[in-house]
Amino acid sequence: MASVPVSKSMSLLSKLAWKKHLAGGLAFAVAVSAIAPADLSARGLIRDAETESLIRDYAKPIFRVAGLGQQNIRIHIVNDRNFNAFVVDGRNMFIHSETLKQSKTPNQLIGVIAHETGHIAGGHLSRLRRTIAKAQSASLMLQILGIAAFVAGAATGGAAGGSAGAAVMSGGQSLTQRAVLAYQRAEESAADQAAVRYLNATKQSSRGMLETFSYFVDQGFASLKYVDPYVQSHPMPQQRIIQLRELARRSPYYDKADNQDWAFRHELMRAKLSGFLESPRTVYTKYPPSDKSMPARYARAVVLFRREKNLKAFQREIDQLIRMDPGNPYFYELKGQFLLEAGQASRAVPPLRNAVKLAPNSGLIRILLAHALLTANQPRLIDEAVTQLRRAIVRENTSPEGYRLLAMAYGRKGLTGQASLASAYQYLYQGKLKFAKEQAKRAQTKFREGTPNWIKADDILKFQPPKLR
Ligand SMILES: [Zn+2]
Repeated sequence: MASVPVSKSMSLLSKLAWKKHLAGGLAFAVAVSAIAPADLSARGLIRDAETESLIRDYAKPIFRVAGLGQQNIRIHIVNDRNFNAFVVDGRNMFIHSETLKQSKTPNQLIGVIAHETGHIAGGHLSRLRRTIAKAQSASLMLQILGIAAFVAGAATGGAAGGSAGAAVMSGGQSLTQRAVLAYQRAEESAADQAAVRYLNATKQSSRGMLETFSYFVDQGFASLKYVDPYVQSHPMPQQRIIQLRELARRSPYYDKADNQDWAFRHELMRAKLSGFLESPRTVYTKYPPSDKSMPARYARAVVLFRREKNLKAFQREIDQLIRMDPGNPYFYELKGQFLLEAGQASRAVPPLRNAVKLAPNSGLIRILLAHALLTANQPRLIDEAVTQLRRAIVRENTSPEGYRLLAMAYGRKGLTGQASLASAYQYLYQGKLKFAKEQAKRAQTKFREGTPNWIKADDILKFQPPKLR
């Protein structure tokens, strides 16, 4: 699991480069730069193969029955302590880490996803943009640009891009949400109804959604001072909950339980998030050492290494987890990640190879393995690193980290043209266009004109970020 921090170096600008296909087929979407107040530096996006895979499994059937199966909607996890989930366009859904931690069952989280999907399918977003354009308020427009930067940045899936946008999002949140509140009420019940339809069509209960939303109604009454941003963006008048309850209870699947596999993976995900994001005290309260379950061991394992710097104790715990479930790729991944972080790259390689074998579709884990292979610094491992990175980049095709490592690997092999081209992509997806072009120029001198690599470099050289109005 990696938290992508918000860069402090970003300046106040919202020069954006929208998704665009270049001549050579380069998919490009990046926030060139954005607003990043220093106090937001801890926030950003969370990338985690395990969490992302589970959420994809939850969302896939919902997207399909909503008619959005082909739209390639990405779900991003925002590192944030407030419960929230929102969509800002038809391609990107954002869920706060707190929402994942608070959802006690898969069904509760799936309900939130179904509701947000209802907003996408209902086209509530384009209406949002029109409404705000009509408002003609300069400051509001800035907020909207901020959100746009967030999406564009997050779409790169990479450090600089994602973090740039996240910062903007953080800054712009409350103002925008207040504006949104004014007209969104009608759309909330439409999204609820759509969500119940999707849940019924996938033979799942709406109970989790009802539980989540009821909790917010209670929260709204309990405290006027502190209300989660989710309540601001999704107004919860009691009438809405009454309607939803009616609708949910009519479903033949109301009492249907979550499938066991998801329920277990859900517990592991929450435990891991707790271990990474909460204080050791909170973690040990939730998962006391007397609790020998796998999720409890998982949460404590993270704390043992990350907070208590006790590599030995961590290894005992993670090895026990691996014995308990040798088929779980993420236990090997965590072991490898922490060994790598502890400076034991050679020892990180075998568990990471196992993780890749068990989760061959995860680009993130392949990048981590390549990182370990290159850090181990043995010539015989370089080719394996290149192979892993090339496969990783098929999925993580805008990952600056993937390209950074690839450039390093090519550099060690003496392939200077390839190395420069990979560096050019790294900078491109970090939004550092000037550096990207410098590297592309260098790369081009190493390739024959008209060859595929020459054309790729040329695409970067010719790329102009479109101007926003
Ligand atoms: Zn809503």
